[in-house]
Amino acid sequence: MNVNVKDQSIPVVENYVGGERRATASGRSQGIFNPATGVTTSHVTMSTAPDVNAAVEAAKSAFPQWADTPPVGRGRLLNRFLALLNEHKDLLAQAITSEHGKVFLDARGEVERGIDVVEFACGIPQLLKGDFTDQVSQGMDNWTLRQPVGVVAGVTPFNFPFMVPAWMYPIAIACGNAFVLKPSPIDPTPSLIVADLLKKAGLPDGLFNVVQGDKEAVDALLSHPDVAAVSFVGSTPIANYVYETGAHYGKRVQALGSAKNHLVVMPDADIDKAVDGLIGASYGSAGERCMAISVAVLVGKAADRVMPKLTERARDLKIGSGLVDTSEMGPVVTEAARQRIAGYIEKGICEGAELVLDGRGYQVPDYEGGFFLGATLFDRVTPEMTIYKEEIFGPVLSCMRANNFEEALEIANRHEFANGVSCYTQDGNVAREFGRRVQAGMVGINVPIPVPMAWHGFGGWKKSMFGDMHAYGEEGVRFYTKQKSIMQRWPATMANGAEFAMPIMK
Ligand code: NAD
Repeated sequence: MNVNVKDQSIPVVENYVGGERRATASGRSQGIFNPATGVTTSHVTMSTAPDVNAAVEAAKSAFPQWADTPPVGRGRLLNRFLALLNEHKDLLAQAITSEHGKVFLDARGEVERGIDVVEFACGIPQLLKGDFTDQVSQGMDNWTLRQPVGVVAGVTPFNFPFMVPAWMYPIAIACGNAFVLKPSPIDPTPSLIVADLLKKAGLPDGLFNVVQGDKEAVDALLSHPDVAAVSFVGSTPIANYVYETGAHYGKRVQALGSAKNHLVVMPDADIDKAVDGLIGASYGSAGERCMAISVAVLVGKAADRVMPKLTERARDLKIGSGLVDTSEMGPVVTEAARQRIAGYIEKGICEGAELVLDGRGYQVPDYEGGFFLGATLFDRVTPEMTIYKEEIFGPVLSCMRANNFEEALEIANRHEFANGVSCYTQDGNVAREFGRRVQAGMVGINVPIPVPMAWHGFGGWKKSMFGDMHAYGEEGVRFYTKQKSIMQRWPATMANGAEFAMPIMK
């Protein structure tokens, strides 16, 4: 819903360009809700092309000097930023919970996992060390080095308003680039806290900019001739669009998309631990994680042992405001999301899945305006059902039955999304086979949400990711730098005369 800001008592989340807050040219804005109450708490400005141009211009001006700053200096600045982030974890988590709805402890976890990437980026002098071959030919050396790409943009989703941008800007900036962030308009406040902390850490103005907005801002970034690379995280249709459009304009693009993460429970698994894994991974953050488990594949006898326990645990889930200590699951992010998810539940029933728990109509006392849904559990879901094929992105777990390991593996491997996948078993060979043969980017063995640590890199396969290089880790460093090879020799060792044949190294 777009509105024009008339009510001056409601704060406005603005752009951040060249080291200062900036209103947009259009004055267009959108409401930000507290999902637990349904109340509009602020507005976010929506950028148009001139606003984006201003941010790219600021970044372009700041880039050359930063690119020339020794990596050790860039790393030290990030170290100061790291210390500030550690001091402001609660502020960030509070901002996340207020606009996203996830429970405070989970928001704290998100902040910690984002901070991990900043910690990794502090080691940039080591990460940027090049390769050198002495005496590649008589009197000649050859080395490779990696240089920043220039102005890079990040476009991020609502579900991790701090962590996902933190997969991008710390590494981009550490590599010597200037960054323009376009966060989700649903929960944009953490992006400005980050801007303030980077400035406080001493980052020169123009190296980190935020343009608030929607498709209009994204399109302006994608077609801007001075944007060299775009990192995107969000849903698959938009990831695909960003990848194709960015490539059309000659940009380097990594675009991470949607997911349908399977967790296979083998009959030999520790069933209580598997149920623990399923409950946390399916309903944590109301299922609004790209690595949430949305499909349980119960193998053989595991099904009849898992279902009763899972049902009981899901029914007893403590649902409430994310700022109430006892809550295990908060609301979903918007009323539109709640309706979309309820629509999927209806579809699941119509297509013949067995509805074990129905989360529709769930009410939290004193929070009647909030966007709550109860935990929803389906059994006997089959591959042709819409609730299996599509990403629901809510607290809905679909259980499927498989006769054996091969069948379970086949189910997981046939899905078009391939972000994360997990297998619970106590059999080492099953674990090994699963890890080797499953077609997905991130695999957990008795780990329900195998989000790689900051130095390993994050990314799915198939329609869960477009592009070659995963987010963060060393792949992140490669994405934000371009390789240059230099060959060098000096007159004392150079032969006389022109060479017309391809030189042979000797
Ligand atoms: P989204 O695709 O709606 O939005 C992502 C970003 O794209 C936002 O900044 C949004 O403003 C922008 N955008 C939206 N529509 C656009 C359009 N038509 N053209 C250009 N830009 C547009 O995603 P979301 O609802 O914010 O986030 C949830 C989705 O993100 C889920 O599908 C989830 O699986 C995915 N996700 C994936 C990962 C991953 O690592 N693979 C991580 C987090 C979230």
